[in-house]
Amino acid sequence: MMLDSFHLKDKVAIVTGCNTGLGQAMAIGLAEAGCKVVGVNRTPAIETAEQMHAGGHSFIDYRADLLKQDDIPGIIQQTIDAFGRIDILVNNAGIIRREDALDFSEQNWDDVMNINSKTAFFMSQAVAKQFIEQGHGGKIINIASMLSFQGGIRVSSYTASKSALMGITRAMANEWAKFNINVNAIAPGYMETNNTTALREDEDRNAAILERIPAQRWGLPRDIAGPCVFLASDAANYINGYTIAVDGGWLAR
Ligand code: NAD
Repeated sequence: MMLDSFHLKDKVAIVTGCNTGLGQAMAIGLAEAGCKVVGVNRTPAIETAEQMHAGGHSFIDYRADLLKQDDIPGIIQQTIDAFGRIDILVNNAGIIRREDALDFSEQNWDDVMNINSKTAFFMSQAVAKQFIEQGHGGKIINIASMLSFQGGIRVSSYTASKSALMGITRAMANEWAKFNINVNAIAPGYMETNNTTALREDEDRNAAILERIPAQRWGLPRDIAGPCVFLASDAANYINGYTIAVDGGWLAR
């Protein structure tokens, strides 16, 4: 009986940026837990679609550029047309730009802030309106970062965007908990994805990072799937506005 509260049978989830990496692992995890999934991607999510179809899961791959917010109404409408409702939103799509703070360009500031926090906020707002119309609440999961808690180096806009994301996770949770909408976040630690290829290929940085992680390994995309399914499920109904670190103990040091 306990495990029933983790089940997501016939729930409808939107996952942004699921053609690779953490988004792909969360989309597949949600599908394996019972969800129908709408992926939102700038380029076709070919590998994700193949894995979804091989597993017999319902998956739609919607094309949108989340650097701007114009496509949001279309994403909502497409999901309703296909599956009739929305139950879960995972704001995962994100980018990082590296530049010294002294030279940091406005373009690298605006692009990162746009996709990582502004789009995440307005996607959440649009989905929350749909949740309220449906009358049964819903779950919003934002993908934050260690840099929601720490400063980082040469990544000013990323730190700003992910700190903002943790803040608006709390702000939205405060306003929408009364509608049975749970807004929470996951802060991944150092995970093996495209995003971190350069870091992993730099021998000195790689060794320094591994030395500091109590679990003594980089995280795998699959490590994020379980916490995502949990936060999307009824088992997490009384968790509001919290950011869970999935980091092999990095923040505990
Ligand atoms: P990734 O680069 O492999 O994936 C990023 C995803 O965002 C891709 O699906 C990409 O297509 C999508 N995306 C980028 N720009 C887009 C745009 N303009 N429109 C639509 N989609 C767009 O990186 P990842 O490591 O899987 O990162 C996923 C999320 O996790 C990001 O928000 C990232 O900041 C966060 N994160 C990653 C790590 C890590 O160690 N990998 C750590 C902390 C947080």
